Amino acid sequence: MINIKNIEHSYGDDFKLRVEALSIPSNSSTYIIGPSGSGKSTLLKLICGLQNFDTGDIIIDEHDLKSLLQTGELYLLKMMFMSQELGLWPHMSALEHVKLVLGAESTDEAIIWLRKVKLSHRADAKPYQLSGGERQRLALARTLATRPKYLFLDEPFANLDLVLAEELLSVIYQEQRLSSLTLIQISHYTMGLDDPDANILVLENGSIVQQGNLTDIKNNPHGKWSEKWVSMLIKKS
Ligand code: ADP
Ligand code: MG
Repeated sequence: MINIKNIEHSYGDDFKLRVEALSIPSNSSTYIIGPSGSGKSTLLKLICGLQNFDTGDIIIDEHDLKSLLQTGELYLLKMMFMSQELGLWPHMSALEHVKLVLGAESTDEAIIWLRKVKLSHRADAKPYQLSGGERQRLALARTLATRPKYLFLDEPFANLDLVLAEELLSVIYQEQRLSSLTLIQISHYTMGLDDPDANILVLENGSIVQQGNLTDIKNNPHGKWSEKWVSMLIKKS
């Protein structure tokens, strides 16, 4: 469970993110949408401890995020963050990437993770020998192998074709069905958005202007950007 109270964060005078109150239940799916520059990445980074904030509190599983950052115990929360920066290790094979997070005796399990992302046939390849899509698959396998409780996605698949992006998202959704995983993502793909349980946050100018599931937002979009977004969704469907 994530509880946010009265957080504010500014980058100089140009931009201020302000969230009065936001609760994200465990094992839920949250989508952060909004125009470019509205603060989506900033909000995500604040929640996973990648970005300091000026005022307010973020409590995750009864831990105060600021205290965990101070004591160097953020790892207790089992959070993982994925963006387009993959951070693969150039000198290690795909299998070694997964084994490094699982431990020495884990070859069989590591192969299972590679199989889930359809990369087991490239287990011995190093990152430079993999295609862009294969590198993305590997980064996902390594992330999921850590069995995160919280997974934050900042458009990690934005440079992939739609078919591959949806395939990798399905792998994540499948893991979420199998284990307790709280997923918070920024994405321009619509896969999963229409789940009635999915919580959509609309950000504009650093504030949450609307929160609800897709039906709520379609029926009553708040603000100019939401109206445009809804009309584009309806055109596509
Ligand atoms: P989004 O992800 O919705 O596109 P961001 O959260 O990345 O938006 O950025 C929100 C605003 O803050 C933008 O105007 C951006 O230029 C600015 N910004 C983002 N990161 C920084 C930073 N590290 N320093 C200064 N300004 C930043
Ligand atoms: Mg962003």
